[in-house]
Parts: sequence; C-alpha cells; structure tokens
Amino acid sequence: MSDCIFCKIIAGDLPSKKVYEDDQILAFHDIEPAAPIHVLIIPKKHFASLAAGQPEDWAIVGQMQRVAAQIARELDVEESGYRVITNVGANAGQIVHHLHYHLMAGARLAPLGV
Ligand code: ADP
Repeated sequence: MSDCIFCKIIAGDLPSKKVYEDDQILAFHDIEPAAPIHVLIIPKKHFASLAAGQPEDWAIVGQMQRVAAQIARELDVEESGYRVITNVGANAGQIVHHLHYHLMAGARLAPLGV
C-alpha cells in the first residue's frame, strides 16, 4: 500500500535497522523503543492486523512468531524473558495499520492491563 509506513520500509523507501529478513518477513528496531530491546516483526504482504487476516495468512503469522523466538535467542534475551504482542484496533492503541508484532525485552516489563 503506497501510504503505509511499513510498506515503505519493506520497499526500501524509508530506512530501518533490520534484524531479520526473508522472502515473507522483515524485522527491525522500533524507532521509538518502549523497552531496551524493541523490535517489530512484520509480514511483507500488507494486511492491517490479525482482524484482517485471510486463510492464506495464518501460516505466515505462525512464521512471524517463530522469527520472534529466533530473534530473542539471537539477542540473548531468551533466559531473561521477553514479550511478543500485537495491537488490533483502537482500544489496543494500534497506530500503524500493517500487522506487526512487538518484541520487547531487556528490562522488567510493566504488567498488561488498562
Ligand atoms: P503503538 O504506537 O501504540 O505501539 P502500534 O502497535 O501501531 O501502536 O505500533 C506502531 C509502532 O511502530 C510504534 O511502536 C512506533 O514507534 C513504530 N514505528 C512507527 N514508525 C516507525 C518507523 N519508521 N520505523 C520503526 N518503527 C516505527
């Protein structure tokens, strides 16, 4: 999508600090990290969120979680722990409407809640 920030990053039209890339998935450091380690994992195919996922998308969603676990291992936070979340829609505070998982680590994270 031409007006999607993450599609521009995938296309190389916006810079990013990549930590992982394959033919379907890209991961890069969040530009405004909310934890000492804050990586975003996105599908190269544009879809807005889990709510917009089609039957053919679920395999890649599973692969994104495999990639999250791999990155956590490579960044050496497997032992200390990490969080993987995705925001869907307004109540969750989703701002960028291209599916992404946040991988956060490097400190004790705040409990989830309202
Ligand atoms: P929230 O900002 O509430 O976490 P999202 O779940 O939609 O909402 O997350 C979007 C994330 O994308 C934010 O953490 C934001 O800092 C990050 N972000 C926005 N633009 C860029 C960019 N150009 N490069 C890297 N990260 C970005």
